Amino acid sequence: RAKADVARAVCFYEADMDELARARRDLGLDLRRAIDRGELQLHYQVQTTVSSREVVGYEVLLRWKHHRLGYVSPAEFIPLAEETGTILTIGEWVLREACKEAASWPQPDKIAVNLSPVQLAHCDLPRLVHQILVETGLPASRLELEITESSIIQDKVRSLHALRQIRALGVTIAIDDFGTGYSSLDTLRSFPFDRIKLDRSFMSEVEQSAQARAIIRAVLALGKSLDISVLAEGVETEGQLKLLQSEGCDEAQGYHLGRPEPRRSSPQADAAAAA
Ligand code: C2E
Ligand code: MG
Ligand code: MG
Ligand code: MG
Repeated sequence: RAKADVARAVCFYEADMDELARARRDLGLDLRRAIDRGELQLHYQVQTTVSSREVVGYEVLLRWKHHRLGYVSPAEFIPLAEETGTILTIGEWVLREACKEAASWPQPDKIAVNLSPVQLAHCDLPRLVHQILVETGLPASRLELEITESSIIQDKVRSLHALRQIRALGVTIAIDDFGTGYSSLDTLRSFPFDRIKLDRSFMSEVEQSAQARAIIRAVLALGKSLDISVLAEGVETEGQLKLLQSEGCDEAQGYHLGRPEPRRSSPQADAAAAA
C-alpha cells in the first residue's frame, strides 16, 4: 500500500518534471521569437541625487509581455535567455533600442543598461557598443553599463580587458547589486568602476538594523576614498531617503523616487503630450 503510494507519487513527480521541462523549453522557444513578435519592451526607472532629487539618469529594465502568459518576470526569463544563448540577441536589442530612444529624448539624460555575464564573455562586446553608439548617435558619456560581480568572476582577465576597452570609449561602468557577491572588495580592486550600486537588501533593513546602517556607512566611506559614487538601490520610503541623506549618500533609485515605466520616445510625443 505504502509502496504503491510512493510509486504513484514518483509517477506524478516525473510527469510534473516533464511538464515543467517542457514548459521551460517552450518558454525558451517563445523568447527567441519575442523580438520579432514585438513582445519586448523597455521600461525606465529614474535615478536621482539624494540631497536635491535631481535626475542623474534612468536604468533600462527589460519587460516581456508574452502573447499568452502576459508579463513574465526578468528574474525568470533572463536566466533562461542566458542558458539558451538568446541573451546575446536580446542584449544587443536592448542596447540598441535604449540608445536609439535615449538619443531622441529632449533632455540629454544618461541611461544605464544591464549587461549579462554571457554578453561580457562574448569577445565582440566593445566593438558592438562602439558600433551602436555610432549608429544611434548617442554620446558615449550618456551610456552606463551595469554589471554584477559574477560577470567578472567567470573569466576575469578577459572580462576586465573588455571592460577597459568599453570604458575607453567614454562609457561608464557600474557594479550592480554590490554587497551580495562573495568577493566585492576584490572586484573593486581589479577594476576602476565609476559607480557602486548598493544592493537593495541593505535598504530594506536600514531602518531596523544597526548592522545594515553600519555596512552602508562603510560602503560610503569606501566609495569616497576610492572616488567612486555610491547609489542606493531599492529606496521605498521617505525615511530611508532621509537616512541616506544623513549618511552622505550621493544617489538613489527605488519605488519612492519612481517606478520603472515606459517613457515617451520622441520629441514629437513630448510636444503632443504638452499640447
Ligand atoms: P537589477 O539590475 O538589480 O534591477 C533592479 C530591480 O529592482 C528591477 O527589477 C526593479 O524593478 C527593482 N526595483 C527598483 N526599485 C525597487 C524598490 O524600491 N523596491 C523593490 N523591491 N524593487 C525595486 P526587475 O525590473 O524585475 O529586474 C530584475 C533584474 O533582471 C534586474 O535587477 C537585472 O538583473 C535583470 N534585468 C532586467 N533587465 C535586464 C536587461 O535588459 N538585461 C539584463 N542582462 N538583465 C536585466
Ligand atoms: Mg541593474
Ligand atoms: Mg541592482
Ligand atoms: Mg538586483
